[in-house]
Amino acid sequence: MPRAATATAFLLSAGLIAPPADAQSSFTMGPVTARPGTTVSGTFTVPARGGDPGTSIPFTVVHGAADGPVLALVAGTHGMEYAPIVALQRLRASIDPTALRGTIVLVHVANMPSFLGRTIYYSPADGQNLNRVFPGKADGTLSERIADVITREVIARATHVVDLHCGDGNESLRPYSYWITTGDPKVAEAARQMALAFGLDHIVVDGARPTDPSASVYLSNTAVTRGKPALTTETGGMARVDDESIALVERGVAGLMRHLGMRAAGPEPVAAAIWIERNEVLRAGFTGIFTAAVERGHTVATGTLVGRITDFHGRIVEEIRAPFDGEIMYVIGTPPITQGEPVAMVGVRR
Ligand SMILES: [Zn+2]
Repeated sequence: MPRAATATAFLLSAGLIAPPADAQSSFTMGPVTARPGTTVSGTFTVPARGGDPGTSIPFTVVHGAADGPVLALVAGTHGMEYAPIVALQRLRASIDPTALRGTIVLVHVANMPSFLGRTIYYSPADGQNLNRVFPGKADGTLSERIADVITREVIARATHVVDLHCGDGNESLRPYSYWITTGDPKVAEAARQMALAFGLDHIVVDGARPTDPSASVYLSNTAVTRGKPALTTETGGMARVDDESIALVERGVAGLMRHLGMRAAGPEPVAAAIWIERNEVLRAGFTGIFTAAVERGHTVATGTLVGRITDFHGRIVEEIRAPFDGEIMYVIGTPPITQGEPVAMVGVRR
């Protein structure tokens, strides 16, 4: 860098001179400030309260050289969903802030208690599912306080949000996105375009989310109920860290960056989306040992055996069958099953 430019950068960073009017301003998030064209990482602290030790939420701000959208990408809402967590590690290194328009916020592990505790669905701290307690509470359980930090510090700052999931540690899943159709039609249409840009060809039409911002329940729905287009994606599962699933996230983010005008180049939107208009999560009627009879992505007819539950002495106590013709979006791939828990999701194409 020429000496004059170095001096200008120093004076800018020291706040001794004002930036030119058309330049991107700095972006402050929690304890860190990113100057234009830089990548900076930090950690949100969720303080101890009511007997739990609190937790931390690591994040990165990739702050582009030019002004534009603020795209928040959240991984690890469920701590045993590893493929998106590892994908964000790779994206942190690969997205060049000097060639970026706008800002990308990476939340690397939203649910640290569940990640380090290696739990599916529920936090070991309070037994709650983080993706059922949004928008959270500042004086609530640890899961509610994590949700509150994500709502206030991340979703409130973003223009677009993606909650990156995969099949949980016990779920064998075929990749798909959820498109939330409830609420403001303009937001829903923008979210539909995001789903196409992300590039997963199966898109579950999700018309049953609450519209009350104070009872938004789900992370991506917290954005939608605040007028921000959002998406939930599902890529990977069974606690695997496989390149194929990670590549789907990287491709999806590249597609979104192009769609939102954050980067000129990128993959095309999915050309022939398969819209899953109807779906049903099949649940266990008994506690015991589950054995699947189908695999993810299988086509099933009404009455097809999806799986069996046996008691702990090997007697069959339940046969779970497909309620209609459709496709297996995910199926439980490990033996433990508790009454009321999901065993599979069946979807029907438009
Ligand atoms: Zn999940």
